[in-house]
Amino acid sequence: MSTKDFIEKDYYKVLGVPKDATEAEIKKAYRKLARENHPDANKGNAKAEERFKEISEANDVLGDPKKRKEYDEARALFGNGGFRPGPGAGGGSFNFDLSDLFGGGAQGSGGGSGGFGGGIGDVFGGLFNRGSSGTTRVQPRRGQDIDTEVSLSFTEAIEGATVPLRMSSQAPCKACSGTGDANGNPRVCPTCVGTGQVARGSGGGFSLTDPCPDCKGRGLIAENPCEVCKGSGRAKSSRTMQVRIPAGVSDGQRIRLRGKGAPGERGGPAGDLYVTVHVSAHPVFGRKGDNLTVTVPVTFAEAALGGEVRVPTLGGPSVTLKLPPGTPNGRTMRARGKGAVRKDGTRGDLLVTVEVSVPADVTGKARDALEAYREATAGEDPRAELFKAAKGA
Ligand SMILES: [Zn+2]
Ligand SMILES: [Zn+2]
Repeated sequence: MSTKDFIEKDYYKVLGVPKDATEAEIKKAYRKLARENHPDANKGNAKAEERFKEISEANDVLGDPKKRKEYDEARALFGNGGFRPGPGAGGGSFNFDLSDLFGGGAQGSGGGSGGFGGGIGDVFGGLFNRGSSGTTRVQPRRGQDIDTEVSLSFTEAIEGATVPLRMSSQAPCKACSGTGDANGNPRVCPTCVGTGQVARGSGGGFSLTDPCPDCKGRGLIAENPCEVCKGSGRAKSSRTMQVRIPAGVSDGQRIRLRGKGAPGERGGPAGDLYVTVHVSAHPVFGRKGDNLTVTVPVTFAEAALGGEVRVPTLGGPSVTLKLPPGTPNGRTMRARGKGAVRKDGTRGDLLVTVEVSVPADVTGKARDALEAYREATAGEDPRAELFKAAKGA
């Protein structure tokens, strides 16, 4: 029988004994009724058979001091059959019906106020949210958000990458289906009657609650604690997920992947996964937003006379840039569409900065030519403008 039976059935009435009946009185009442309604004495009498079952069930509970205490507490909390959450689950053992708790078997029948469609979990939730600021444990819960990090190469960050992410999160223990009980059949905590909360006191119409100390707020007690999770019902689950990192992410960026976090509980949605991206530096290319940068050495002759310069691109064929005559050192030019991928799929540009390289050692013909160049330009003072400006200010 389930907790629902507790709420619905008045076993005292079934046995015809007062609520404060002694064990002996209960035994006596049961024996008398069992004799009267025994199937052997009432062959073919369906009504008597039904009554006999009822009596046995009542005696199972009231005849066992421990079960009787739990029953009394449940009824004290929920009133004497004031509402009927649904048809009883039946069955012989005195265990909580987990399908109710986890929202598995929704049962919409019964009378009452009609709002108890989802089984006993909803009944608990409905009761305990009324006038209470605390939430109950038996409602669907969204999975946790998970933070993780990933390291990408420079190229992966530009092009996007699918990377394996190993994540550990809290999930229902697989060995015991999250019940914490080795047989998958935990008992309702008699202290809190499955709510996971105990009243601390009340004031101003609000009842304050604490997590139940006996079940640590779970609402369930495992008689045979699951060895895998030590009765907590929770497990660390490690899983490797293939996660698609979009193209164009930059170092330090935090990406949110909806619904890739920890799984929800009792039908709740999964949390989100946040991935902080680390991007390693590239020996040649740099990054400025959607644009890539590269510094290209040119000779003095190329800068002064102009020329065609080959420039490498990231992951593609090189491009040729036309250097106009008289290109100053440090000028930046633009190779369109050779940059990082933007959100819309287009690409930024490659910003090419020319750097005039000065040979460390000039010999032979080149030296003769440079000496000749020096003579030819002897009359020019490249610092004339500098000194004029310095004085003028
Ligand atoms: Zn408890
Ligand atoms: Zn377990």
